[in-house]
Amino acid sequence: MNKEELKNLINEAGLRVTLHRLRVLSAVAKAKKPITVYELTELLRKKENIDQATIYRNLSSLHLAGILRRSDLNHGHSHYELETGKATHQIICNKCEIIERIEGVSTDNAILKMVQKSKKFKNVITHSVEIFGVCKSCN
Ligand SMILES: [Zn+2]
Ligand SMILES: [Zn+2]
Repeated sequence: MNKEELKNLINEAGLRVTLHRLRVLSAVAKAKKPITVYELTELLRKKENIDQATIYRNLSSLHLAGILRRSDLNHGHSHYELETGKATHQIICNKCEIIERIEGVSTDNAILKMVQKSKKFKNVITHSVEIFGVCKSCN
């Protein structure tokens, strides 16, 4: 996604486009995996001179606006990625920070069955499947 597309995302969500907000969003969009606040701070502090409080504030407004997806991944801290509206399936190592995205396997039937069983929901928007294990290098 280029800068204009990211600006549009922010605009369409009804947020003000600020330099810092754009920098934070662009860094999350460029990351190849769900990124932590710590990693973002390391990345942005070097060249942009943004402090952690500003990063937190912008992540939080982007998350509330539905632009970013936040997940815990059983790590006890948050990870952020672009909310694509598409289902994600990932395997997460319980010992290190490795996350592997699995593509091309549909869980739609299982999700449908769960929604049918649900007493409080008629339909859902998207889903994210998190599978936990220990990766080959930690084994
Ligand atoms: Zn983590
Ligand atoms: Zn591992």
